[in-house]
Amino acid sequence: MLLRGGLIVDGTGGPARGGSVLLEGGRIAAIGDLPDEAGASIDCAGKVIAPGFIDAHSHMDFFSASGDPHHFDSFTAQGVTTFVAGNCGFSPFGFAPETKHRDLIENSLFKAGREHLDWNSFAEYREVLDEIGLTHNFLHLVGHGAARTSLSGFEARPLTEGEHAQMLGLLDSALSEGAAGVSLGLQYKPGVFAKLDELDEVARLVKRHDKILTVHAKAYSSFSGTYPMVPFGRAHNLKAIDEMLGLARRTRVRLQFSHLIFVGTRTWKTVDEAVDLFDRAIADGVDVCFDMFPYRCGATLLNTLLPEWFMARMPGALRSPLARARLRVEADVGFHLVGFGYPQMQITNACCEEYDEHNGRFIPDIAKRVGKSNFDTMLDILDKSSVEARGLFHEYYNDEIIDRLMQHPAAIFASDSWPEPGGHQNPAAYGTFPRFLGRARERGNISLEEAVCKMTGSAAARFRLSKRGLIKEGYAADVVVFDWDAVKDGTNKTGDAAPSGVEEVFVNGERILEAGAVRAIRGAGEVLLG
Ligand SMILES: [Zn+2]
Repeated sequence: MLLRGGLIVDGTGGPARGGSVLLEGGRIAAIGDLPDEAGASIDCAGKVIAPGFIDAHSHMDFFSASGDPHHFDSFTAQGVTTFVAGNCGFSPFGFAPETKHRDLIENSLFKAGREHLDWNSFAEYREVLDEIGLTHNFLHLVGHGAARTSLSGFEARPLTEGEHAQMLGLLDSALSEGAAGVSLGLQYKPGVFAKLDELDEVARLVKRHDKILTVHAKAYSSFSGTYPMVPFGRAHNLKAIDEMLGLARRTRVRLQFSHLIFVGTRTWKTVDEAVDLFDRAIADGVDVCFDMFPYRCGATLLNTLLPEWFMARMPGALRSPLARARLRVEADVGFHLVGFGYPQMQITNACCEEYDEHNGRFIPDIAKRVGKSNFDTMLDILDKSSVEARGLFHEYYNDEIIDRLMQHPAAIFASDSWPEPGGHQNPAAYGTFPRFLGRARERGNISLEEAVCKMTGSAAARFRLSKRGLIKEGYAADVVVFDWDAVKDGTNKTGDAAPSGVEEVFVNGERILEAGAVRAIRGAGEVLLG
């Protein structure tokens, strides 16, 4: 396949140049002023030819074994060819085979993918993927949360010595089998119960394998229930950054700080200091980067709002008048301190019959309709959904913060999204990469070349993807063709609007987007080993 006469943006960040790109045998065979011989070709005049986009923070691994390749359609339409998955402590492998908590891992945030995880190791999981046939490339992280859950469930306690050793053993095996690193989810159960000495040992293990540690930090707002409330204390999101940079300094591990967001309008004043913390660490030689998405909202579980003490007493706490009364007071104070609250909470999937009709609505709207207070509505949804309700929380960023972070040398781009089986969708699953590009064009905060680099070459370098992420001879034929003047995300009421301007996508030379139409091809993608 000859991609003829386009503007080549090669993913290095270097200047675009005119030329053609020849794809042959799943590789980029030639680049430049190529003769138009007989054979398949696509006229790319006026179009950009770039490396396929890498979603540097994904949870799509739970969907890849589902047997339904259409889960990936919205990503194909954006130009994504590769996912870095297994983030935030969640991975569909890495658990102890004999665990009695398999259901807790199966019923995670992403359970739409597959009912049962009927494999016992990363190697076995890979065999299942090979059988099913991946539509995209996947690099996998192993979740600390998955390993820990399989040993002590969601019990709110440190691991015993034996469990600790077992946990490290499970992570060690997955890393040896080709996982690219370990992910931490310190705001979710059970990561929220892990103390720093446990995390240090995980980081040392990752360092020994010379791999990467990604972290969903313990807090992303200036006040968070995951830390004790101390008057006039350090903003919790900064404390969380301090802790993780401290861990990287102590252990020398390569650290990827996941989705650097600033939840709530009052957290926004910490942006300067947060960026400064990263800058100083980098200046001191700490190997740290962060990822980000281009939307002001992000998807999460409703229960991430709950403080650690409440989570530790679930589900009983939901029905305890005393616990509810204390939570109500803390929520009022917390929301006030953070500048975030019910009006910013949109239920995307209530995960229960009683509230499913309200999917897409914000809490105050639902509360009015059911005749309850905002607080009671939130807890009722948590209760009825067995704490599984999902939401889209707003005011994670403002436009200024997004523009600024996009410019940061340590920033790489990601969607942190997945398709919801029902209800309202997270627009990030439909428009992240076109939105980054459209934003770069319209706001001029970064150049076309820089934007492409942060979703290709930089991400590939960060996760050490071999021979991917660049338009370069001998590299994998993961390629996207888009219209720089037209590329942007779509918008609609249900969050699932298709983007525009992305025209062709190739994964390992297979054409998975043809003139804007998605072709779900099993076996086009492959598992990339770290
Ligand atoms: Zn996360």
